[in-house]
Amino acid sequence: LWKRFLLEIQKYVSKPAFEMWFKDSAIDSLSEDKVTISVSSDTAKDYIEENYMPIVKEALRRITGMALEVEVIVQKKNTPDVFSDNPVKKGKPKSLIRLNPRYTFDEFVVGDSNRLAYAGARAVAENPGKRFNPLFIWGGVGLGKTHLLHAIGNYLLQQQEPDMQVLYITAEEFTNEMVESIKKNSPEDFRAHYRTVDVLLIDDIQFIAGKEATQTEFFHTFNTLYQAGKQIVITSDHPPQELTLLEDRLRSRFQQGLTVDIQRPDFETRVAILERKAQKEGLDVPSEVIEFIAHAVATNIRELEGALTKVTALATLQNVPMTLGLAKQALGDVNTNQSAVLNAQTIAEQVASYFGMTLEDLKSSKRNQDLVMPRQIAMYLIRQYTDMSYPEIAAFFNKKDHTTVMYAITKIKDAQLNNVSIRHYVNDIKKRLNLL
Ligand code: ADP
Ligand code: MG
Repeated sequence: LWKRFLLEIQKYVSKPAFEMWFKDSAIDSLSEDKVTISVSSDTAKDYIEENYMPIVKEALRRITGMALEVEVIVQKKNTPDVFSDNPVKKGKPKSLIRLNPRYTFDEFVVGDSNRLAYAGARAVAENPGKRFNPLFIWGGVGLGKTHLLHAIGNYLLQQQEPDMQVLYITAEEFTNEMVESIKKNSPEDFRAHYRTVDVLLIDDIQFIAGKEATQTEFFHTFNTLYQAGKQIVITSDHPPQELTLLEDRLRSRFQQGLTVDIQRPDFETRVAILERKAQKEGLDVPSEVIEFIAHAVATNIRELEGALTKVTALATLQNVPMTLGLAKQALGDVNTNQSAVLNAQTIAEQVASYFGMTLEDLKSSKRNQDLVMPRQIAMYLIRQYTDMSYPEIAAFFNKKDHTTVMYAITKIKDAQLNNVSIRHYVNDIKKRLNLL
């Protein structure tokens, strides 16, 4: 049965994707209404669950004629336990195994929303421990934090320093390991494990907020590594200053390097990501379908990828071409998200109220300095979060010439890199608009 299933699946999944995710899979158990599939890594499990469930179910239905529930479990095949005390095999750090090979810099599409984070990660990968230490990357869910963290690890191990001890770990795993080591009375092993790496990549640090013992332990790990000039990269869903349940001393440590954020991708970046993914999977997706998906899903990149998979799955299963109509059918249930319904008016009102000015003044052509900057911010945000063209934005602000708009947008973009207060205003307003 499984062989037939794999044959069936291969029809719908590109070859590289199949090799990566399905090759090691097997049927673990089968009951009347449920199939349990085992795969060899957590990553494969996550990936299949997120992207291929509709295809898996459909393939099974075709073979068995039944609509079966599917569960994916992880059955590790002699991949050594990352934390076992066994010496590392053949000098390759065990952490290597845990890095998703798909998460590389090459695969990361750079846009305005993630440019700084990308540049920071890249700089750190090229010069670990030398430039930005720690590097602190924060942003909402599904925006590429884990991807960048893995990319640093992959880069170091594959291109730069194959002998470097790179450790990728989630803050949750760190916590569990620590608790376990205390139970087993072997905190020294635990400490030695973490305090001797060359690069520590720790994901979702917000997890240790409010956990005192873990924070203390992490504080010492951090200091030991930092003083030895080892690179530390941290990700979080909030900036350090907003991690209120974190001890002050940790928070200030986190801020002594470089802090960068990742924001929601703008429309162009969403299109670029979809195009990249389609190309990678060898799919021929018409641009109108790509644009439709990019319009429909603005929340995060994981959902964006999921939406494309959904459309692809429907097209393959029904054996029809990927048309706009099909995409609409497939994504009928995509939540219209906040930013999709955001319009210029809402943004302009929010900007005006933030700066304590009237909407009329904001939209007027008065050139007082205290009106110009807010106006430019409003234009910038409207361009980022609506699908209005430059001329449309110009018209909204009662301007004949859209070069003013283009100038304003470039100016605010630049200011975000080198003007702390403008960056701060923009972030504040985004928060008010629920964009952060
Ligand atoms: P986070 O850790 O911020 O929640 P992830 O790093 O897990 O988000 O990203 C979610 C998905 O989106 C992953 O499949 C990742 O590869 C993809 N992704 C995120 N950002 C990008 C990007 N800039 N280019 C291409 N793919 C991206
Ligand atoms: Mg993550």
